[in-house]
Amino acid sequence: MTTTLNPRTHGPDHPVSYYAATARYDQRYPQLTESIRADVCVVGGGFGGVNTALELAERGYSVVLLEAHRIGWGASGRNGGQLIRGIGHGLEPFRKTLGDAGVAAVEAMGNEAVDIVTQRIERYNIDCDIRWGFADLANRPRHWAELQSHFDELQNTDIGHQFELLPPERLGEVVGSNRYLGALVDSGSGHVHPLNLVTGEARAAADLGVRIFERSAVLDIVEGEPVLVKTEAGQVVADRLVLCGNAYVSGLNKTLAGKVLPAGSYVIATEPLDEATARQILPGRHAVCDMNVALDYYRLSADNRLLFGGLCNYSGRDPRSIEAALKPHLDRVFPALRDIHIDYQWGGMIGIGANRFPQIGRLKPNIYYAQAYSGHGVNVTHLAARVIAESMHGDSERLNVLEKVKHLTFPGGPRFRSPLLALGMLYFRMKDWV
Ligand SMILES: Cc1cc2nc3c(=O)[nH]c(=O)nc-3n(C[C@H](O)[C@H](O)[C@H](O)COP(=O)(O)OP(=O)(O)OC[C@H]3O[C@@H](n4cnc5c(N)ncnc54)[C@H](O)[C@@H]3O)c2cc1C
Repeated sequence: MTTTLNPRTHGPDHPVSYYAATARYDQRYPQLTESIRADVCVVGGGFGGVNTALELAERGYSVVLLEAHRIGWGASGRNGGQLIRGIGHGLEPFRKTLGDAGVAAVEAMGNEAVDIVTQRIERYNIDCDIRWGFADLANRPRHWAELQSHFDELQNTDIGHQFELLPPERLGEVVGSNRYLGALVDSGSGHVHPLNLVTGEARAAADLGVRIFERSAVLDIVEGEPVLVKTEAGQVVADRLVLCGNAYVSGLNKTLAGKVLPAGSYVIATEPLDEATARQILPGRHAVCDMNVALDYYRLSADNRLLFGGLCNYSGRDPRSIEAALKPHLDRVFPALRDIHIDYQWGGMIGIGANRFPQIGRLKPNIYYAQAYSGHGVNVTHLAARVIAESMHGDSERLNVLEKVKHLTFPGGPRFRSPLLALGMLYFRMKDWV
């Protein structure tokens, strides 16, 4: 199947975006042009790969990180920046597989995931506009009922930060829109400038001795002990390999590619809003998500732009105009912003798994992988990195828990996978409309 990818979002450099325009760490890394040796070779310069490299370097391993384009080129440098507590999209369906203790362990990992990000930012002094406060917004009565029951469950946990349930009459504390029926506010989740976070983490990894190579796409892997990882102009001989190509992994590994579907998601950034307007639409500067399957997610940037994300596209083709496709969503939420100018528009690929539980595990005793965060990866990538590094360092207890969840290969092969999923998603979107 031929796919037409928009050069604006799929060129060799960072795509034009609000994030690229406000990048603070514009470090470039060389291309790999020789044969080198390492304890571990990590493929993919997003949050997953960069943090795996960093975790391993912190434990004293020699690490090589290979990125096909630039650090943060993929979803990690393009996303909505919402740093949301938890793993996956609800753990109840996995209780039978994981058991009560397993579910509790995964819940704890979901909280730790956000703490890891906080610790990174503090320890390595990363300037990435972190701000606390996140809210789920109910679009329908059943969403509101879900939020109420989730809030009740949270009362019995000791997560250590505050949650608040806002009924319709108090919604104005979080969002200046009449489209919603209530909100669940989480003070322990928030938002970041993701490109500055991932490139700041890469800088920290490089400072610890990780050898980072950009424009170094891995073209072939010869499995064995050691494993041989080949790029166009060089190769890495390593005892262990970690694959973090996620939605962009495609031809590199058929098994992984079969379990992750790339889905386009898109963001527009307005011109900076005046203070009064910013305060009117998001008074507490929370990051917010609505609860539809093809959800709207939005937040204010440090310079008062509204960064508004949404859409979900399985065709591999970006909309001809992201602004034309997404602006009507923004207008429905904030009609007063109808005439606002859109300064930036961009998109990227989310890796979706069939059960929407992240795929973190081992293909072989010395080949690890992490992918398919299904749109909830800013925090979980950090946790995946830690759990993989722990396992390589001799403690696989937490990886063993995550590996209990089995992941289906999407039917249809590379040709028909996306159309089949598009049909499935249409079904869920129709349920939203009903
Ligand atoms: C528009 C958008 C909005 C999103 N919003 C949010 C959000 O608000 N909150 C949230 O939690 N999650 C969000 N996500 C999801 C989140 O961004 C991802 O889950 C996360 O960034 C995945 O990180 P990663 O390192 O696994 O993958 P990526 O960041 O995609 O990195 C993979 C890297 O691997 C490289 N690569 C692939 N193949 C090779 C190869 N053969 N050789 C070398 N390198 C290779 C790619 O070039 C790429 O840089 C969003 C995603 C998108 C696209």
